[in-house]
Amino acid sequence: MKFKAPPWAEIDTVMFDMDGTLLDLRFDNYFFLDLVPEAYAETNSISKEESLLIIMNFYQEVQGTLNWYSVDYWTERLKIDIPSLKRSVADKISVRPNAELFLSKLQKLNKRLLLVTNAHPKTLQIKVEQTAIFNYFEHLISSHSLKLAKEAPGFWKRLQTVEPYDPKRTILFDDSLPVLRQAKIEQLKYLWGIRRPDSQRESQVSLEFPLVDDFKQCFPTKISGL
Ligand SMILES: [Mg+2]
Repeated sequence: MKFKAPPWAEIDTVMFDMDGTLLDLRFDNYFFLDLVPEAYAETNSISKEESLLIIMNFYQEVQGTLNWYSVDYWTERLKIDIPSLKRSVADKISVRPNAELFLSKLQKLNKRLLLVTNAHPKTLQIKVEQTAIFNYFEHLISSHSLKLAKEAPGFWKRLQTVEPYDPKRTILFDDSLPVLRQAKIEQLKYLWGIRRPDSQRESQVSLEFPLVDDFKQCFPTKISGL
């Protein structure tokens, strides 16, 4: 889909996903596809290749559910202290280009900024400690507190019970196409994706949603209604 800047004059509430949207997904891919299999191989005295196969099977079983995003679940399942392992490499967490500047511009326009993430509260905490982008938000919402993943039917209606919003005047930025699709089913009007959630992997394509390369493409201007 051809890219266009959002019509800011029509939008009051701006929702952002965290991993792959404001933060480079490189960290999470490195963590789950390199570091965790390495640690699992070590604790079980198996090869890294064997470990990766086992772990990919585990991942597939729970993909798209809250367990997939739960550090408690993985700590128990793999018998590895996932929060500590994450903290040990937290300096690799990085913010996507112009994300912070974008947030500050939206804050100056008095847009209501909400972070809506599938990340577990413990992961969110590690990322809050590591970067400065979280001060811009009115609220940080982990889907774990609503007991539904963002891609699950009913999530966006349930979100209304803790954060009432007008779906016709709300924009969501999220790198996950299944999440955007579910938000669309639940009537969120403005849905923007991310072209390359992991800076070191290939881009994604979408015929359904505009995809952001760099947040400066979305900066409010006179043309976008402000
Ligand atoms: Mg994401």
